[in-house]
Amino acid sequence: MSGTSYTYSQQLMGTTVSLKLFVENLTAVSAVFNAIEQLEDRLTVNRYHSEVMSINHAAGKQPVAVSKLVFDLISQAKAASLLPDSKFNLAIGPLVKLWKIGFNGHSIPEKDEIGRRLTLTNPHHIKLNRTNQTVYLAKAGMEIDLGAIAKGYIADIIKLLLAQYNIFQAIINCGGNVLTIGYSPITADKQWHIGLKRPFAEANNLLGIIHVEDKSVVTSGIYERYFISNDQLYHHILDPHTGYPLNNELHSVTIISNNSLTGDIYSTIFYGLGIRQGLSELKKKQNIGVIFVTRDKKIIIQSNQHFTFELTADDYQLISYS
Ligand code: AMP
Ligand code: MG
Repeated sequence: MSGTSYTYSQQLMGTTVSLKLFVENLTAVSAVFNAIEQLEDRLTVNRYHSEVMSINHAAGKQPVAVSKLVFDLISQAKAASLLPDSKFNLAIGPLVKLWKIGFNGHSIPEKDEIGRRLTLTNPHHIKLNRTNQTVYLAKAGMEIDLGAIAKGYIADIIKLLLAQYNIFQAIINCGGNVLTIGYSPITADKQWHIGLKRPFAEANNLLGIIHVEDKSVVTSGIYERYFISNDQLYHHILDPHTGYPLNNELHSVTIISNNSLTGDIYSTIFYGLGIRQGLSELKKKQNIGVIFVTRDKKIIIQSNQHFTFELTADDYQLISYS
């Protein structure tokens, strides 16, 4: 084990982004944080101006030409939205904006308004023209929201950027999204040790430790953003069919994958599929592993040989499929 690590943090993308390196390279560090800032500027829908917002502002009016980077992400997000039984929907924007969960002014919307907004969330109405690299939202009021996947996409780009600085061992943490690069120089087993959070508890209160090498570990948890009204919890992952927060047996889903965009897309998709359908889907998708944490204190794992898990919470039951 060679020991020294260098950790840098900044508030970006609505969360604390931290980067841990094992060489001191301030040029690389500032390149990373500058790149994240620029990518956020293009992808955000939480400000008036961004490339994605220019598409949203032109909804029902005209196609908008965008950069290759934004076009590629939107194409992948549309494809994920059209998968069978996918509850991931990049056109969810009008509902996210209505609920404002995790932002100031959240409230339970009127049923009629939810119904009206549901008509503006059909991913088929997002028209992509690859030749001209344009995106057109066919109905006025439609809005693309990449909040579920932008961090994963950005983390993958940062990995490529670090490689340009000959950095092949690092860990990037963007809130619930962790991307590990290479093997860990600071643990005996050379694996990275990533904490699995206990739902609705302090950040350092863990259910267990995920051991991985050169993998992305992305969690979608309903405890990340929510509000409570009349004893009912309303969280930030919305069901594109009902317009209400997805209601199932899960507190969180963690996806372990090679690339972080895949993890980000599938953490939302598997949250939507739930355990039974999720596990059967995983038999077909050997390139990812999953950890479901249920409301009734079960941790259900299908590793597909991508990770090992060490349980530390004695009030949870571990059910493991390898
Ligand atoms: P994540 O934290 O990666 O699970 O993403 C949650 C964020 O994705 C929310 O805060 C919304 O911006 C957005 N979102 C909510 N519901 C959906 C959905 N069904 N499909 C795609 N994005 C969603
Ligand atoms: Mg996600």
